[in-house]
Amino acid sequence: MTTTLRGSLSLAVLAGVFASPSALAWEHLGHVWLPEDMPLEYYVADEEACALTTVPPEYCTPAMQEAWGIWEDIPCVEYTTLYAGVCDNIGYEPGNGLNYIAFDDPYDELEAGAIAAALSVDDRTLAFVLEGTAYLHAYDSDIVFNDNVLLDTRENIREGRCNGGFDMVSIGVHEMGHTLGLGHSCEENDLCTDPKLKNAMMYWTGAPCNNFDPVEDDIEGTTALYGPYASFVCSHTVSEDLAIGIVPFELKCVITAEDVTEITSAYWRFGDGGTSDQVAASHVYEEPGNYTVQVTVNGDREDCGEEGWEYNYRRVGYVRACGLPEPEFTFEPVEGLTYQMLNESNVSVYGCIQDIQWEVYKGGSANGNPITELTAKAWEPRLTFPEAGEYTVVMNLGGPAGTSAAQLTIDVKSARSSGGCDTAGAGALGAAGALAGLLVVARRRRD
Ligand SMILES: [Zn+2]
Repeated sequence: MTTTLRGSLSLAVLAGVFASPSALAWEHLGHVWLPEDMPLEYYVADEEACALTTVPPEYCTPAMQEAWGIWEDIPCVEYTTLYAGVCDNIGYEPGNGLNYIAFDDPYDELEAGAIAAALSVDDRTLAFVLEGTAYLHAYDSDIVFNDNVLLDTRENIREGRCNGGFDMVSIGVHEMGHTLGLGHSCEENDLCTDPKLKNAMMYWTGAPCNNFDPVEDDIEGTTALYGPYASFVCSHTVSEDLAIGIVPFELKCVITAEDVTEITSAYWRFGDGGTSDQVAASHVYEEPGNYTVQVTVNGDREDCGEEGWEYNYRRVGYVRACGLPEPEFTFEPVEGLTYQMLNESNVSVYGCIQDIQWEVYKGGSANGNPITELTAKAWEPRLTFPEAGEYTVVMNLGGPAGTSAAQLTIDVKSARSSGGCDTAGAGALGAAGALAGLLVVARRRRD
């Protein structure tokens, strides 16, 4: 099957092989639906397709509705689905924007051993960043049951009349978890000892004649993507991910949430050891640095039970606290009138030096006009002076907090390299040249 996909396709297969279990927290697949996508519409293959399975032809549609209902019943999540009707397999094509559930692997995509799979496509736009992971906006997700799998109804299994097949509803629930963006709680070869992960709906495989339902791990995974959410905005913001200030400065932050009246408490960590338990918090940064700001927000919502909800939000490297640049440099003679500048400025705080300019003045002070040809923007320029004599070299560093400069006076002598290009006859001269290089005098002055 050839399809043109708008984004990347993630294929999550529920394998039907049984191996020893394993341990990882729940994982996400990297795609997510947004509030504007709700209700999530889905189509189901018709009775003719359902008749190709081992459940009654009229069972497939209600089974899929029941399966989506199980996800919707999780408290404190914000997604809804809508059964949009049946259609034949012509409607099924990954990437066509139609969420479709097929029962007989119409394009023969699934390998033997796979019970079912979810094929999800994103539209390559960023939905949000959560805990440093970027989630792309989902666009289409199809679920495919393999055609050679023995399926049974949830009722038969519940009532002990299992035919040895897999619960169709449970399989649907697992694949729908993938549609929502959940990965597996454990993969086939993981050492999965935590019962919380082993018993999860999103465990990589399932056993026949079993009903499975979302447990703690599945709920945490979904809530992380679709549950109550909080963020913050601060003063000194230059972009969503960056606030710049000049020390000392007071950063003021407030929490943003879908409904801020739900918020009952907050705990901020400002990255330099400073904390606050105010919903609207402020903090004074004294020392230059790049700091991560993090807030844990607690809120009340009837759906979320007595303990309410909790959400942790952080922005890595969010605060750039700058002081004046601290310029410092030295130099070494290279050859002839050429000298290499060596920049030793403090660069420990990222982003606090934004501009550099070197200027060279004739004589022992930075008076008059700099020599135009020697003005440079490089971090460590190599300067060739026009003739021997005294020069003053100034390095200016600019940043958010302002500009500062360092200067050195160099007594330029014609230093000649003692390298191998000298002929035997010029040997003595070469040595003299190297000696001259050592006589370079520097006076350092800091502004
Ligand atoms: Zn799976």
